[in-house]
Amino acid sequence: MTTGTRPAPGPHDPPGPGGTDGPDLVAVPGGANGPPGATAVADAWRAARSRVPPGHLDAAGCNVPSDLVLDAVVAHLRRERETGGYRAAADLGGSRSALAALVGADARDVAFLESGTAAMAALLGGWRLPPGGRVGFTRAEYGSTLMLLRRLARDRGWRLVEVPADGDSRVDPDGLRSVLAGGLDLLTVPHIASHRGVVQPARAIGRLCREAGVPLVLDVCQSLGHVDTGGVGAAAYVGTSRKWLAGPRGVGFLIVPGLHPGMDTAAPALGGHVWVDGQPSPLAGAARYETAEGAVAARAGLGVAVREHHALGPAAVHARLAELGATARRLLDGAGGWQAVEPLDEPSAVVTLRPPPGADPAAAVADAASLAAEASLLVGAVPVGRAPLDMPVPVLRVSPSPGTPAETLHALARLLGRR
Ligand SMILES: *Cc1c(COP(=O)(O)O)cnc(C)c1O
Repeated sequence: MTTGTRPAPGPHDPPGPGGTDGPDLVAVPGGANGPPGATAVADAWRAARSRVPPGHLDAAGCNVPSDLVLDAVVAHLRRERETGGYRAAADLGGSRSALAALVGADARDVAFLESGTAAMAALLGGWRLPPGGRVGFTRAEYGSTLMLLRRLARDRGWRLVEVPADGDSRVDPDGLRSVLAGGLDLLTVPHIASHRGVVQPARAIGRLCREAGVPLVLDVCQSLGHVDTGGVGAAAYVGTSRKWLAGPRGVGFLIVPGLHPGMDTAAPALGGHVWVDGQPSPLAGAARYETAEGAVAARAGLGVAVREHHALGPAAVHARLAELGATARRLLDGAGGWQAVEPLDEPSAVVTLRPPPGADPAAAVADAASLAAEASLLVGAVPVGRAPLDMPVPVLRVSPSPGTPAETLHALARLLGRR
């Protein structure tokens, strides 16, 4: 990106390293042609990080970037200072390809912004719906997205339609089918929520939406790098760098494989638009959504993180995380009266715990988080505002990254059990 125009990477830019886009990556044995074992993933994850915060169990909040990611960010910042910020511009084509490959899309479908929240706001805020447009959502919707939907409903007359879900807040396909039959203009679903580690049946949801001709917005902030995100066929994916992809903070993105006629931007700008008859006219692809000014070093760092994920083998990472999540729930469920919210074998590493019955829930969560911190264990405390339609009480969130040693989970279980 030299003078505010976005590079136009071809759809076939290789996801491999090259140019200023990142260092060479060392593939884990078996990474290319079959997943390495869970132990190999854990070992490789740890080997890629010379330091991690002690007791880190907060991948769903902010994960730990690898040494290569850190080096790529610092190297880019150094180049910016030595050659000039514009001249140092990284070729992000490889980063875009690697990211897009996770959902079966192309490099030109990717737009970088600064967070998942900003990406969702750019997408939904610019979407033109007919008056009285009907927007489907689930009760597990992320707090910021729900705020945005409520505001858009108020200001633009959108009608919000809740899609039925079961006791685990998992979308009920039959319920969705009947909502779709009633007419929807758009559906938003968080693949995995921030406050509840249930994996939504994204492929089934995607298929039903395509059959009904309804664009699906899949929030993959908690699922990219964590569970399989392929084969969904969503109209748009909203993601963030710092969680399961373990990229740097301060980068979010949209992946928009098929532009729908209603997709516009709330705030057109020079980076993604040109002047036509005195009006802004969007460039092709997802470029219209990208913020031209941004932390380019962090975007390049995210590209390295995604390519490390590909080198580890996404299937092996998913399997390792599912195993860690199940192990954590079995160890923690019942400890000191804390209760796992998800089914114990839910294939995700977002583990949430409801406070012991009888305790003041907010105080119990705050106390547990600070006791954990004193014991050098880093867990998350999720307030009800995160998903107000779906959380009767705050929860403690435990989200191990692939390299987490079993002992860290045991230490937390002992701590919660000690009352
Ligand atoms: C974190 C998160 C977001 C928002 O991403 P930010 O990068 O924090 O803005 C959106 N949806 C879900 C499910 C999340 O977990």
